[in-house]
Amino acid sequence: MQPDIIITIDGPAGAGKSTTARQVAERLGYTYIDTGAMYRAATLAALRAGIALEAQPLAALVGTLTIELVPGPSGQRTLLNGEDVTEAIRKPEVTSAVSAVSAIPEVRKSMVARQRQIGMQGGVVMDGRDIGSVVFPHAQVKVYLVANIGERARRRLQDLQAQGEATTLDDQIQQIEHRDRLDSERAASPLVKPDGAVEIDTTDLSIEEQVGKILHLVKNYQKAYAYISAFGNL
Ligand code: C5P
Repeated sequence: MQPDIIITIDGPAGAGKSTTARQVAERLGYTYIDTGAMYRAATLAALRAGIALEAQPLAALVGTLTIELVPGPSGQRTLLNGEDVTEAIRKPEVTSAVSAVSAIPEVRKSMVARQRQIGMQGGVVMDGRDIGSVVFPHAQVKVYLVANIGERARRRLQDLQAQGEATTLDDQIQQIEHRDRLDSERAASPLVKPDGAVEIDTTDLSIEEQVGKILHLVKNYQKAYAYISAFGNL
């Protein structure tokens, strides 16, 4: 009998984390947890409250928030204090502010505690920036997805155009580079390739290929687990 494991998928914006993580979870019958949605929901709450995006007011605010990730027919829905904010958290004003909010240690502490609560039983695919490095450093399968900046911007552009947002490829390149810089250079849990994570460059891969590579890692883990269960740690 195989245990339900934890699979972490980290990487910069546009590397293909959410689409890949969702499909891996579907194929395994696991729960997909988009941790970026939690930071986005906290950012939306801060913008609505009109508070300064600084440590003290943000620390006071996040403690009061209920953030739920619930499965829906067309993917995960995000509820903020009971309100469905799935679309609102993808708006450009939230995207522009989220890296400043997520750099605050008190905000991270609150989100990490929630994420551990959700994932600790296993049977989850969790994507984000610090999942394999901080939230679940002992996860059984850890992946770090990367892709070149042009391809990441092109994917973001496609998503945003599908949502009816007016933007250009150059705008997206600038925004992603800016967000990469903030996420990688912050003091608290910066974006890094976690120890023991397998790096996959998705620039020239289809979603099916990315999913296949991760399922292959899961299979390898399961084989090793079965072997050790049968023969002990020789
Ligand atoms: O994944 P997504 O682009 O929606 O994430 C939005 C932002 O949330 C990231 O740019 C990053 O600042 C923050 N984030 C984080 N840690 C995570 C997930 C997201 O700091 N685990």
